[in-house]
Amino acid sequence: MTIPGTTEPVAPDGLSAQYDPAGTESAIYERWLQAGCFTADAERSSRTGGDRDPFAIVLPPPNVTAILHVGHGLNATVQDVLVRWARMKGLETLWLPGTDHAGIATQNIVERQLADEGLSRADLGREKFVARTAEFVERTGGTILRQLRAMGASADWSRTAYTFSPELSGAVREAFVRLFERGLIYRGHRVIHWCPRCLTSLSDEEAEPRETNGMLYHISYPLAADPSRSITVATTRPETMLGDVAVAVNPADERYKDLIGTSVLLPILNLPIPVIADEYADPAFGTGVVKITPAHDANDFEVGRRHDLPMPVVIDMYGKMGEGADAAGRVPRTLQGMDRFDARKQIVAQLEAAGRLVKKEPHVHNVRHCYRCDTVVEPRLSDQWFVRMQPLAEPALEAVQTGRLRILPERHIAVYENWLTGIRDWNISRQLWWGHRVPVWYCRECDPPNNVIASREDLMSCPHCGCDVVQDEDVLDTWFSSWLWPISTLGWPNEEDTDLRAFYPTDVLVTAPEILFFWVARMVMAGFAFMGEAPFHTVYLHGTARDTQGRKMSKSLGNGIDPLDVVALYGADALRYTLVAGMGLGADVFLDPADLEKTFAPGRNFATKLWNIGRFLLGNAGTEAVRSIDEVKPDQLARADAWILERLDVAVRECDRALGPVHPIRGRWIEEELGAGLRLNDYAETARRFVWNELADWYLEAIKTRLLTPGEDQQVARAVLVHVFDRALRLLHPIVPFVTEALWQKLPGHVDGTWLATTPWPTAPRETEVSVAAGQFELIREIVAALRQVRAEYNVPPSKSIEAFVIADPAHQEMLDEEFSLISRLARTALAFVEWPPDVAGANVVLSGGTQLVVPLEGLVDVKKECARLGAELASLEKQLASLEGRLSNAGFLERAPSHVVDAERAKRDEWSVRRDQLKSRIEALCGAA
Ligand SMILES: [Zn+2]
Ligand SMILES: [Zn+2]
Repeated sequence: MTIPGTTEPVAPDGLSAQYDPAGTESAIYERWLQAGCFTADAERSSRTGGDRDPFAIVLPPPNVTAILHVGHGLNATVQDVLVRWARMKGLETLWLPGTDHAGIATQNIVERQLADEGLSRADLGREKFVARTAEFVERTGGTILRQLRAMGASADWSRTAYTFSPELSGAVREAFVRLFERGLIYRGHRVIHWCPRCLTSLSDEEAEPRETNGMLYHISYPLAADPSRSITVATTRPETMLGDVAVAVNPADERYKDLIGTSVLLPILNLPIPVIADEYADPAFGTGVVKITPAHDANDFEVGRRHDLPMPVVIDMYGKMGEGADAAGRVPRTLQGMDRFDARKQIVAQLEAAGRLVKKEPHVHNVRHCYRCDTVVEPRLSDQWFVRMQPLAEPALEAVQTGRLRILPERHIAVYENWLTGIRDWNISRQLWWGHRVPVWYCRECDPPNNVIASREDLMSCPHCGCDVVQDEDVLDTWFSSWLWPISTLGWPNEEDTDLRAFYPTDVLVTAPEILFFWVARMVMAGFAFMGEAPFHTVYLHGTARDTQGRKMSKSLGNGIDPLDVVALYGADALRYTLVAGMGLGADVFLDPADLEKTFAPGRNFATKLWNIGRFLLGNAGTEAVRSIDEVKPDQLARADAWILERLDVAVRECDRALGPVHPIRGRWIEEELGAGLRLNDYAETARRFVWNELADWYLEAIKTRLLTPGEDQQVARAVLVHVFDRALRLLHPIVPFVTEALWQKLPGHVDGTWLATTPWPTAPRETEVSVAAGQFELIREIVAALRQVRAEYNVPPSKSIEAFVIADPAHQEMLDEEFSLISRLARTALAFVEWPPDVAGANVVLSGGTQLVVPLEGLVDVKKECARLGAELASLEKQLASLEGRLSNAGFLERAPSHVVDAERAKRDEWSVRRDQLKSRIEALCGAA
């Protein structure tokens, strides 16, 4: 279609010919900030006695050192769409931003910087290292929050939070002490995941299992009493055998019954170790015998505890073969200090030489890796702090099972339930320096349990005996502060805090599925543990940004897209539009990093389209206030006016349905017939279709002459145009906030100091009955579209005018007479009303309601040639159809072919039959005989 805006006169303070995102976006953002558009007012929340229902989202806090990538951009855009929508819906809306101190990740960055200077954290010492990290964060941290502004994120920056701030650190301490007092935090001596590079323990979730091609080594252990006999064990980590303290067999395993209580000799060391009976040995697995290495395997540790076995540590914290007391003399001198993987080769070679290696075979198994540095994690025996998770998991599980907490898309529910059902205790202590120090002090003088004191305040002396105390050296897992995010950022533990009362529980949590366990499930647990309620009623897990080959975008693959590059080239609106339009519920978003133009031009073109409509509007309606739509009487509306107003209602309703019922009732969404919501792509498409296909393609074209003819009807057309465009801008604002705000500020009659960002969302009646007038405009559209279709089918150039005979249904005759010039103009056709179809060679179209069109083609196309072409096409189609029908009546094919293939063939047959009938009627109309 053409938007004639560029040729129309533009008022002096109108819009520039070209939309310039770069010159518009940051200025508008500044003005929003100055006007306080994004600042929530806790006093206005109905929960604190105010007049508005609250709506709150907490931003998943990015790492404080993070730099914006397209994944953040996608995450923030989803939230911003929901938040802007809720704000316009009149909810007291809070989007709370902030950052995470990211213990292990940030510490790794600073350690790398130190390494470049030839230093280690030990060289600096704890205090200096923490100070340096804090200074680094102070200097460079939070960049990402500034970058989010460039994308239009309408967060309440006055409430920006940081997990390591004094306030949030207070919340961390309170949470620790409360759980300690409830007996839900304890110190445990057990085998945990250890990263030999980061030199810290990790939780189960931080030690990511990865499928690895390894080897399974079968080693024979000779019987001590009769070295000519032996039993065979299998292991993927032969270096740990130096720490074996037993071999175990199942007590029910007849093969080894006589050996229980005897000894075998540990190869290489020639050390006798007992054969024990334990259920842990699975008779069906391998030889049914397992070696027991309590210090280097979590399961073996449990066996060791049950049998009161020694626990020599043969691999040290650096992943090197141990020496010293812990190793209990078990590591031969030649191996001491050797890296664990080199030692593996050495030990295998020695076993081979000694004839103890029965066989080795390739073996695919899961090996855990550190989620921060990718080093192979080593199971390690140590003292750590744990949270007893099972009691905390129960309400979190129940909330999802009873539907109080929704997880979208629903396929993630099973994963969530599965994890919570089999949950293990959470190791929360880290041997790091950057983080919240464990708030526990030890007294050397007091007896247990008084010697371990968890305290909200720093302790200088023992509250029991007054002696000196020392604080635990460890810090807490980063996620131990993140799991409090929805409550700590709102002021917990101060339960009187207005923000907490006004906005807790929040509404929707928008995040990536990767952190469902790390973060989402734990936040739900913390919400119940400390506030008695889930922190949100809906979890929306969005998809991942991928390249056109389906690979996740990442720095290391070099297939990322820098959102700020896109903003600079195409504008934030184009980026947002592309992300939202490409996003089904929970589905991945595919972008082409190699072709930004192809990827983002549609978004930019959409903004340009809006801009051009705005220019057309200003050119025709001026900048002075026009009549309000309420002052227009229904009988003044032209058919096109009635039609576009109804289409607007439909668009509003569909957008609301796609976004979903945002307003929670006591933590539940109003479901009704509205469905799940959060279908952002459907929302974007509905809004686009309304503006592009209905408003621009039809309505603007239909009213052009009315706008140019002074008088009462011109005023009505202006009023409707301004009203509809205003509402269209409101509908689109959450997706493309900048261009819509820029245009809205220029609308005729705009009141200075008012903002689209805080203007009410359009409302529509629940049902719209199509009015007579709007229905009549539909018929006009049908006629015009049919005539355009004829032009397209017969390749009639737009410059060439055509004529058409209209045989109108009597019920429409009068209306069509009235709209004669409108139809002629829109279709570029000379119309003639006749009672009977004329006897001419032409295209014949029958429309709904019985109106018929005949377009004479003589003179427009070479009828003889066209008839020949159509005849050939028909013959070829009929041949194909016959062969398809043959296949579909072949019993053998129907039996053997998969049902989806048969269905597809049937659908094809139906489609081709319709086409054949169309061709036949075209031939009949044009050539006179079929
Ligand atoms: Zn690591
Ligand atoms: Zn004491």
